[in-house]
Amino acid sequence: MASGRENGFKYRSELDGASREGHPAVRINPEKGDTDIIDMKTDLEYRPYEEILNIQTGKLRELMKGPWQQAPGFVHRLKDAGLTVDDLCDPGDIMKFPILRKSDLPSIQAAAPPFGGMITVPPGKLRRMYSSPGPIYDPDGHLASYYRWERAFAACGFSEGDIVLNCFSYHLTPAGAMFEEGANNLGCAVIPAGIGNSEIQVSVAAHLKANAYVGLPSYLKVLLEKAEETGLSLPFEKAFVIAEKLPESLRTEFQEENGIHVRQGYGTAEVGAIAYECEEGFGMHLDPTVLVEVLDPETHAPAPAGTPGEVVVTPFNPVNALLRFATGDLSSVTMEPCPCGRKSPRLTGILGRVDQVTKVRGLFVHPGQIAEVMAEFVEIERFRAVIVRERAMDDMTVEVETGKPLAAHTLETASGRLKEVLKLGVRVVRVEPGTIPDDATAIDDRRKWD
Ligand SMILES: [Zn+2]
Repeated sequence: MASGRENGFKYRSELDGASREGHPAVRINPEKGDTDIIDMKTDLEYRPYEEILNIQTGKLRELMKGPWQQAPGFVHRLKDAGLTVDDLCDPGDIMKFPILRKSDLPSIQAAAPPFGGMITVPPGKLRRMYSSPGPIYDPDGHLASYYRWERAFAACGFSEGDIVLNCFSYHLTPAGAMFEEGANNLGCAVIPAGIGNSEIQVSVAAHLKANAYVGLPSYLKVLLEKAEETGLSLPFEKAFVIAEKLPESLRTEFQEENGIHVRQGYGTAEVGAIAYECEEGFGMHLDPTVLVEVLDPETHAPAPAGTPGEVVVTPFNPVNALLRFATGDLSSVTMEPCPCGRKSPRLTGILGRVDQVTKVRGLFVHPGQIAEVMAEFVEIERFRAVIVRERAMDDMTVEVETGKPLAAHTLETASGRLKEVLKLGVRVVRVEPGTIPDDATAIDDRRKWD
């Protein structure tokens, strides 16, 4: 398929006058929104990442000196930390600034309702307001692209003239509206389908000839099954899936049995787009319009490439002063060059939530990492990792249950793969079917610390 550069879109805007080819995307227009950051002509994805980091630092300084001064909550946070905008000169200086935890948002907002003093306009000047579980209230302001999904969609092959079935909820939470914004900005028509009523959705998608899908991967499967049941044919050619794990087996099934090109992305309700897969489909490129850090959950130092850490993001949003927003999601980053030509590092999938990590022999282990390796072995039906502590040493064993006999080297190969992924020696042993209780957690931590 065409590369992202070839199928790049042009954002139509009255501010979009002379070509800004090669100009850094640092201009802010508070009334019309910042169109620069979503204009493919600036080609941010293909610039060296060091250059992107410098552009981002400049942009952050502008926001901190300009619109974010209107957000009392942000001004206080900076003051409490004893910092000013002049403490941010180089990209590395971001480390000096305090982290804003997603889990703290409910109390911050409750203390200064409704948005914790973090927005730069009066609430009545917003475009929409949402409520997510927490409760967390999310502002949505009048920007040309508030959530910036255009690049992610373009990388999945969406382009002008596509008809998109948007299967995210439009009720109270931002998902439905945020994906609609990105698709509309690309020049696609959107069917605001939401979630549920799969029979009606199939019929609408078939009759309106929706050739693209946005939603959960599991819901795409529901729709395809419903279509088969009702004898209708769904005209989907491409699907952008998010907010749920996409098993590679399911992606292959969509591709081979239904002819649907499937790519996934990562983002949050507060931030919008963070990362997305390109045509290669291995790892999600960091969106150049957000600053992404992957940090050791304990020390908050940058996690080395390949090591899991918490995703901390700074979107350059003139309406919402989010600086170093800690998502609670765990991922790792790869700096390997990508054949697609995009220069940004890639997130190697979302492993799970930070509060599920366990430390074994000083290394972070997440159940998602073990599950990913186990999924490579079709014979393994169930597993659990058991951690014990003997003579002051952590010891981890992964127990597996299989219905069928195992190939001779499977346990050894699985152990080798775990060592590659976890950087930790782990035994893999077969246990009798029924040994692992139905309600067992993926990691059974039996260490005693006193
Ligand atoms: Zn790529």
